[in-house]
Amino acid sequence: MKTTIFTNATLVLPDRVVPDGTLVVDRSRICAVGPAELRPGPSAEILDLQGMYLAPGFVDLHVHGGDGADFMDGTAEAFHTICRCHARHGTTSLTPTSTVARYDQYVQFVNNCQYLLGEVPGGARIIGCHLYGPYFARPARGCHPERDFLIPQPDNSEPLLRNRSTLPMVVTIAPEIANTEWLVRTYRTRGVRFNIGHSHATFAQVEAAVEWGVRHVDHLFCAMSDRARLRQSQTYPMRGGVMEATLYFEELTTEVIADGQHLAPELLRLAYKVKGPDRLALVTDAMRAVDQPDGEYWFGAEGGGERVRKQNGVGVTLDGSALASGVMGMDHAVRTMHFSAGIPLPETIRMATLTPARVLGVDHDLGSLEVGKRADLVVLDRRLNVQSVYIGGGKVF
Ligand SMILES: [Zn+2]
Repeated sequence: MKTTIFTNATLVLPDRVVPDGTLVVDRSRICAVGPAELRPGPSAEILDLQGMYLAPGFVDLHVHGGDGADFMDGTAEAFHTICRCHARHGTTSLTPTSTVARYDQYVQFVNNCQYLLGEVPGGARIIGCHLYGPYFARPARGCHPERDFLIPQPDNSEPLLRNRSTLPMVVTIAPEIANTEWLVRTYRTRGVRFNIGHSHATFAQVEAAVEWGVRHVDHLFCAMSDRARLRQSQTYPMRGGVMEATLYFEELTTEVIADGQHLAPELLRLAYKVKGPDRLALVTDAMRAVDQPDGEYWFGAEGGGERVRKQNGVGVTLDGSALASGVMGMDHAVRTMHFSAGIPLPETIRMATLTPARVLGVDHDLGSLEVGKRADLVVLDRRLNVQSVYIGGGKVF
């Protein structure tokens, strides 16, 4: 029965920072948190953090790859490589996120998520499956190949979404394409969560999707319609798009790619001000070039995705005209949000932990330093660099 006691820690709780804190882990769960002096049992291991931050492990809802591998590569080895890569950056739970791909690659991807759900040795835990596409809108495709976009039909939704009761599923859709209302209403009652993303929907179309049961919007400000874009098809009255609707509807949570390259600090601050730390999650949207040198990479399956380039700490299309996903870990997003955008530390950490956990419906189990929750922990120095990472009480970095 292994007990670990972290002492002299600066605890990062959801609403405050507690200096001189102690946290006790009994096997894989947190069993005590607080400023009080705790009496160690004879077999306890004591770790003096010398004032460093002790925060919950990060939860990433939107991540495609890392360390040379992509979740669409189709192998368990690729999944393990990515989960270990992101664990080094403080992420202890994640939902593998697909790219737009051939249909058989989607099936393989979902099957891999199902099979590998749970603990990954030495890596971030897999807590669900984020199906990104194929129900996107062609004009908002971003760096995803448009040949493989589909209209929802039972013959293409059932193989991906049926019998997934044990696998938390998230499906990103563009609500303006045909049959998405049928898709959302049919599978929402079976526990599937729906996001809006890669969409040029109008405000009214988003309002309708909220009514169907859509509750989250992918990477705010990126690959979505807004007043300026919709004006290209109608001069007046000017209309709101996905961006304005996301800021407007309290029912909608959203996320930002907080790598400091996709969005300038003022947009991170705007998102934070309007949505607040309980409705805004930080994501990496990272592809395989994390922890790899600058150069060209496949976004999506090796040999079958899109070619993109890593440069200046971000992914771009080969002609340099558009962004094409992130290349940094969640620790970098946390530093960007705190030091560049000036968001207080407890709220910054909450947006990387408890809020994404709540978006996925797993906040009863992880996402904060609370008694009974999984002992997923990250130790950060004063510059918020990752010093060590624990998943289920076991040290992985
Ligand atoms: Zn993405």
